Amino acid sequence: MHRTSLKSLSDLLQRREISSQELTRFFLERTERFNPGINAFITLTGEHALKEARAADHRLQHGEAGPLTGIPIAHKDIFCTEGIRTTCASRMLDNFTAPYDATVVARLKDAGMVMIGKTNMDEFAMGSSTENSFYGPARNPWDESRVPGGSSGGSAAAIAAGMVPAATGTDTGGSIRQPAALCGITGLKPSYGRVSRYGMIAFASSLDQGGPMTRSAEDAAMILNAICGLDARDSTSAPQPGEDFTRDLDRDLSGIRIGLPREFFDARLDPAIGGLIMDAVRELERSGATLVDIDLPNTALAIPVYYVVAMAECSSNLSRYDGVRFGYRCENPADLMDLYCRSRGEGFGDEVKRRIMVGAYVLSAGYYDAYYLQAQKVRRLIRDDYRQAFAKVDVIAGPTTPSTAFRLHEKTDNPISMYLSDIYTVAVNLAGLPAISIPAGFLNRLPIGLQLIGDYFAESRLLNVAHRYQLATDWHRAAPETYA
Ligand code: GLN
Repeated sequence: MHRTSLKSLSDLLQRREISSQELTRFFLERTERFNPGINAFITLTGEHALKEARAADHRLQHGEAGPLTGIPIAHKDIFCTEGIRTTCASRMLDNFTAPYDATVVARLKDAGMVMIGKTNMDEFAMGSSTENSFYGPARNPWDESRVPGGSSGGSAAAIAAGMVPAATGTDTGGSIRQPAALCGITGLKPSYGRVSRYGMIAFASSLDQGGPMTRSAEDAAMILNAICGLDARDSTSAPQPGEDFTRDLDRDLSGIRIGLPREFFDARLDPAIGGLIMDAVRELERSGATLVDIDLPNTALAIPVYYVVAMAECSSNLSRYDGVRFGYRCENPADLMDLYCRSRGEGFGDEVKRRIMVGAYVLSAGYYDAYYLQAQKVRRLIRDDYRQAFAKVDVIAGPTTPSTAFRLHEKTDNPISMYLSDIYTVAVNLAGLPAISIPAGFLNRLPIGLQLIGDYFAESRLLNVAHRYQLATDWHRAAPETYA
């Protein structure tokens, strides 16, 4: 049951061969059994889930159900959930319960999905390993001494261990795709604006985007159907017409041009991973696609630009946590300044503080032009690289990460080495493009991810290519032994 696709779970529920309450209990039991070792969840919402499951069963009985009704899901703890605490994995929000649902949460609730918990993550989504969590690190089900990636590491680990069939994540510089790659699951970062950011706690507003984390492209398409679309409460959400993302999944790939950026296959990539990615790309060629060499000349600038822009935006976004309005407040402040300083000093973790300081620095008078403005200019050049590439190809393919899952603590003392694990993902956010990571093999028994990048709002095409790959291969069906 825990390896069954959303489509098949949906069929079982619609045919009344299983009830949502049975399905929910099944996943809750697996979660209780496996979560203590993996720490994928910050909050479990078993009772709440059984209530939602009862309501879903009622809809199923009365012919009022949609394709997702009755299926369990977990939400990254960055999405506000009415009446259930939302921590963003920070001490700052340890006591915070939102008075409303994020649009993503509300839409999946309307679709009848059953929330079984809130998943672990890096504090305020800042990190690549889920080690920057106030609630302790999550672990990779393929090897518990290794990280699940981040920042949506809890969602990825929960799916890989079969604790939940699907989850939500957010991706500012790779946080859906990188943990998906390291945990051997499928993760889709939609085009900027495709999915509403309302109620999704802000890290870097011009880069943040929520999306589905699942076991297959088909499952991701079903979730995207429910969460996409214009939202009057998010002024950056795009007025893009609704689509059925499952419609073109089966389309054959003849005529599709797949671009291979030279810069993605250079010396920074582990050659063994490069070989596996080329095997995956050849599989797409066998399915009818044509391979084209392309250049993305500004690729090397993506990391420095991303870390200037993301830190600038986060320093501004996180100024709202002042100990006054909501969140953590220090004990016995001497005066207002002491209240601000100690609330923020005690409430935020080290990585968050580092980023607020760097962000405030690059935005300050005298440095603004040299860093922030310059980064915005190079950001435009990076976007133009992709624009030119998409004049020649339909999809760009490459690795999601330069290495497989690293060991816990391996990179925690060296933030720069942690930042470098994002080299293949951050440019996509700077450009605002959609991209998906899908399982594409194993290296030393650890999963690796193939990244497919699409043109603006071309999620359908991306999901089509990913689905055809998953029809031809079995990597996405592999499960870690302990959780098989
Ligand atoms: N790892 C990147 C960072 O630390 C991306 C995080 C994200 O996408 N939320 O900023």
